[in-house]
Amino acid sequence: MITTDPIISTQNINYFFGKGILRKQILFNINLDIYPGEIVIMTGPSGSGKTTLLSLIGALRSCQQGSLKVISKELCNAKQNQLIKTRRQIGYIFQTHNLLDSLTAHQNVEISLELHHHLSWKTGQAKAARMLAAVGLGNHLNYYPENLSVGQKQRVAIARALVANPKIILADEPTSALDKQSGRDVVELMRNLAQEQGCTILLVTHDNRILDIAHRIIHLEDGHIMSV
Ligand code: ADP
Ligand code: MG
Repeated sequence: MITTDPIISTQNINYFFGKGILRKQILFNINLDIYPGEIVIMTGPSGSGKTTLLSLIGALRSCQQGSLKVISKELCNAKQNQLIKTRRQIGYIFQTHNLLDSLTAHQNVEISLELHHHLSWKTGQAKAARMLAAVGLGNHLNYYPENLSVGQKQRVAIARALVANPKIILADEPTSALDKQSGRDVVELMRNLAQEQGCTILLVTHDNRILDIAHRIIHLEDGHIMSV
């Protein structure tokens, strides 16, 4: 029996894009509970609302209808500064790595720590270097993104997402640009590191080859959750 509270809990979320006659409902009555330490995969056809749901949970857009609790805070109709506080506790991994081209791998990971002002520069540097070593890039600290392979860049993105010890990792199709083996390596790495930190993962994917890393799979179809 699970006795802990969910770390992500949604009740009857509806979400609309557009205004007036262009207003279109994208998410319908979403009810979803995810518990600390769970690895949940979300699948569903293109356009079914996966990225929209992930961005609501990630406090990247604001939810107007229903209830959305993330790390014990209500985000529906929440103030901007609450959304910002919640964002600091989440690590994001996107389809493409979104690294800054003018920064080295080391600097790309470090900037994610700059939100955490309590760390000294030296401690931050060491932590970023350790995280890059953990993703197998200890010898590539001073490489710029253009000199890294697609898989290596995605590993830098994982290091960047995990370096600040987030409670939740949200990953949106993180393997879609990778070949089979590097896709597999990248998610296994994400899972192992997240488990060491006691982190919860919600991962969107089309990639059938990685479904087995999840404790649970949910399916979104036309904005409705089909199975939990
Ligand atoms: P998925 O990630 O499952 O492919 P999305 O959440 O990106 O789906 O999109 C769901 C639906 O919302 C699609 O019909 C898409 O066209 C629409 N949509 C996504 N973003 C916007 C936006 N910023 N403005 C209007 N419609 C959008
Ligand atoms: Mg998407």
